[in-house]
Amino acid sequence: MVKRQLRPRGIVDPAVLEAMRRVPRHVFVGPGVSTMRAYGDHALPIDAGQTISQPYVVACMTELLRVSPGLRVLEVGTGSGYQTAVLAALGAEVVTVERHAVLSEAAAERWAEVCPDAAIIRRVGDGSLGVADLGPFDRIVVTAAAPALPAALDEQLAGGGRLVIPLGDRRDQVLAVFRRDPDDDRLVRRDETPCRFVPLIGAQAWPG
Ligand code: SAH
Repeated sequence: MVKRQLRPRGIVDPAVLEAMRRVPRHVFVGPGVSTMRAYGDHALPIDAGQTISQPYVVACMTELLRVSPGLRVLEVGTGSGYQTAVLAALGAEVVTVERHAVLSEAAAERWAEVCPDAAIIRRVGDGSLGVADLGPFDRIVVTAAAPALPAALDEQLAGGGRLVIPLGDRRDQVLAVFRRDPDDDRLVRRDETPCRFVPLIGAQAWPG
């Protein structure tokens, strides 16, 4: 996966590549999926009509986020828990929020198996509102697509922080990276690659 998919497409951060090598992706896909398919170059269905993102997309978002040990990261959209485990493998303290309780619980069981010592706090609820009582966060990654940056996430991003979110319509989006200027608090947006995610459904995103 690292050699055929991630390196050729320009993922270069050694820490990200190492984390992707270490986290066993096959644990995070459904039980009916073969190990070969688990590491394939595609997203895969998980419960509740959701998906585990393609390996390249996880690597790309993680690289854009610039995670280093000890940073507080908010992940919106726990899904399978795979990206959470990758963030934790980079030494981050991760708070992850998912609207489907069944997915959040399944993810917790997987972390107990593959990374029992990881610093992961999980919440069930509407992540378009962030997790106000545990913020602010040095990094925020949203793994579902929104029409615009939710105001609550803007508010919960610390000075000097970075936020990665797919923005666009319900079909097509662009991966947007926001940086909060440490001096004047301004948020600067840069657009990266086109992408396609499941919708972020919530009070500050798409209606259900
Ligand atoms: N990071 C995940 C990708 C999951 S897909 C992984 O590695 O597997 C996106 C997830 O966002 C879905 O599980 C979906 O249920 C969830 N989601 C959608 N809207 C949400 C919201 N408002 N709050 C929290 N989670 C949400």
